[in-house]
This record gives sequence, structure tokens and C-alpha cells, in this order.
Amino acid sequence: MFRDKLPSKVTIYEVGPRDGLQNEARQVPTVDKIAFIDALSETGLEHIEITSFVSPKWIPQLADASEVARRVARRDSVHFSALVPNRRGLDNAVASGMREVAVFVSASETHNKKNVNKTIADTLKAFELVVGPALERGMRVRAYLSTVFGCPYEGEVDAGATVHLTTTLRDMGVYQVSLSDTIGVANPSQVERVLERVLAEVPIEHIAVHFHDTQGTALANCLASLTLGITTIDSAVGGLGGCPYAPGASGNLATEDVVSMLHAMGVETGVDLERLIECSRLATTFVGHDLPSKYLKAHMGKQARRRRRAEKES
Ligand code: MG
Repeated sequence: MFRDKLPSKVTIYEVGPRDGLQNEARQVPTVDKIAFIDALSETGLEHIEITSFVSPKWIPQLADASEVARRVARRDSVHFSALVPNRRGLDNAVASGMREVAVFVSASETHNKKNVNKTIADTLKAFELVVGPALERGMRVRAYLSTVFGCPYEGEVDAGATVHLTTTLRDMGVYQVSLSDTIGVANPSQVERVLERVLAEVPIEHIAVHFHDTQGTALANCLASLTLGITTIDSAVGGLGGCPYAPGASGNLATEDVVSMLHAMGVETGVDLERLIECSRLATTFVGHDLPSKYLKAHMGKQARRRRRAEKES
């Protein structure tokens, strides 16, 4: 049975403030982002990716990266990280007090080219200007490997490319590579196939998984990963990043969905689900629409029924 293969504790890597908000149509006010991140810091989450130091020309939603990074309340128990695409991004992150950064590259050539206008080889070369200097400063560096389970332009992606890129990133000194299903097409069998290939070459503690719930398979993919020994899962509170008004937009796996499933199975996360839900509700107020999280919907439905019952009885 798979329950014998589950870890006792899973680390949640919260990406809502970055991966979530960068994909929201609405420009969220800086003050709301800060309050949101501060609230997330009180849920027991140990890792929160708070913003991205990319050019505002690329992602206007995160043009306030420096201000957000400077003004969020720092806690010893929480590692904040920020995405950086290049040396300038790293310098801005350092100037804003960041101690952890993340770099990103795609496993498929066409997606990488469309995303950062460089070949994969040139992207890796450019990392030398980011990863080395960050490590020299004593910072932690994480990497996202995008389109591992499918590319919008090339379709299925060769697992050999994922293995090669993961080992290359590890050799650079990246502490963890997050294997990402950028367009949300992965299925559990494929996850098992790819992870087995990667784990034959890379120690498991250096691998995380990042699923999108575009086709409703994110939790199943997480379960497949956990049974193979993976203990770090990326997710975004509320399933932020999947705007229901943008057809086909792919939402991140919702943090409360995976946390509630893990807790129900007896797997610890250290996250307070009630406080997490409050963060989700806070997010709905500033993104301007309902969030795709199933747990949040069920929770709100239960509360509404309780309210109606109480009104009838009074
Ligand atoms: Mg994502």
C-alpha cells in the first residue's frame, strides 16, 4: 500500500505571492502584498517565495519587488526567496535584503527561447553571473526547471534533458531543483517515470516538485512524488495564478488543498490550515475573483450553511 511509502513530514514551498500574483490580471497594491506575505509568515510555512526581480517590462505585476522585499516582516522561522533572471536581478535582491534567490530555465528549447529569449545553453552560461556570486555571499540558490512534463510548443519533453539539466544545476551549487509542470499536463505515471530517471542521478533531498492543476491532476501527481520519497512540494495559497476569466489559464496547486490532504493522511506540514484559509480569503479580496482552491470552496460552503442554520434557529 502506498501509505507505507509516505513521508512523515512534507515541506511546503509557498509560491503564491510570486508565481500566483505574477499571473493575475489585476495589479495588486503593494500594501496588500505585504499584508498577505506577513499573514502567510504566521501560518507555519517555512518557505515563501515573495516576489521576482525581473524587469517591470516583462512582469509589471511585480514591479514593486524591492519595496515588497524591504517591507515584509522578517522572521527567523521563515525563509523568503525571490526569483532573479540575471545579475541585475540578483543585485536588486541583495540590496533589498534577500538571502535566498531562485533561477529558472526550461527543459524544452522553444519554451526557454520564448520565455527568456535565449537558448538553454546561453541561459546556463548566464547563471554563472548569478549563482556563483550569490553563493559567494552565503546565499541559498534554488532553481526551477520548467516544462519538465510537457512543453506548449514541443509537446512531450525528453526525460534525458531533465536529468542533464538537474545535474548541471546541482553542479553549479543550487541546493534544490524544482521540477515544474508549467502547463499542468503531467500524470502520475509520467511523474514516476521522470522522477525515477532523475533520482537515479541526484540525491532526493535536492529535488522538489511544482505542479499546476490545469487538468485536475496536481494532487495525484504529488501523491506519486511522495511515494517515491519526495518531501518538498511547491504550491500557491488559494491556487493563485489561475484566473478563471482567462480561458485555459493554468492555476498552481492550491496550498490548502495539498495541506489538507496531507494532514488527513497523517503527514505533517507544520502549517496551520485555519490560518492558511484566512490568507486565501485575504487574497480573494485583492485579486478580485474567486480562487480555484477546492478546500477553500468547501470551507466557505460549510460556513455559509452553518450561518443559514443559525439564522433559522434564532
Ligand atoms: Mg507555478
